[in-house]
Amino acid sequence: MNQERLDQFTGRTQNHLTKLNEDYLVHQEVLIAFNSLKQEAAIEGFDLTAISTFRPFEEQLQIWNTKAQGQRPLLGDDGNPLEFDKLSKEEVVFRILRWSALPGVSRHHFGTDIDVIDKKALTDPSYRVQLVPSEYSEGGIFGALSSWLDKRISDREAFGFYRPYDVDRGGVAPEMWHLSFRPIADEYLSEFSFDVFKKFLESDAYKTMELRDIVLDHAETIYQRYVVNVNPNY
Ligand SMILES: [Zn+2]
Repeated sequence: MNQERLDQFTGRTQNHLTKLNEDYLVHQEVLIAFNSLKQEAAIEGFDLTAISTFRPFEEQLQIWNTKAQGQRPLLGDDGNPLEFDKLSKEEVVFRILRWSALPGVSRHHFGTDIDVIDKKALTDPSYRVQLVPSEYSEGGIFGALSSWLDKRISDREAFGFYRPYDVDRGGVAPEMWHLSFRPIADEYLSEFSFDVFKKFLESDAYKTMELRDIVLDHAETIYQRYVVNVNPNY
């Protein structure tokens, strides 16, 4: 993986990005595909809207450090907060990884991955989107959008988008709101070998990351379980 590609993969450059709209940046090759999907969704009465796209390394590092210091709650698999003081450092690392990516390996760095909602379903202005599975299940506020996306993806009519975190594979928890533009995302991931990961982890980029030693001790497990462990099916 050359330096430019590594910088793009790890969220430390924006030279591969373009504006999706006033608020969000995406990979240049994703813009047309996302707008095409949005248009098709509109025909079905949905307002397919991005609420998270590109996220830089520094922002992910901030999320990580805040959680690693216990300043933001860590959740159990049932979604309930855990008692921070009772967790070992290893447990803290793996609890963070269940819900938030390690800085440098978030798919939101690529610019190919987009969290979506149906803005039309937000008829109550006081409703706050939580990005939880129940919102995207049958009967949930975005359930109809989610099943439309299911069908589109399985019919291969989603313009290259799919869900990398469709079911629980023992790594990142399922995220039905998270779409990825597979042609480009797969290319990035295929170049990011364990050796590249290890070398990057040892670089100065992580100087200020909390629990870095624990992450280094478990680098191989983290790579296998949280980086490359995504939906293999189109
Ligand atoms: Zn996401």
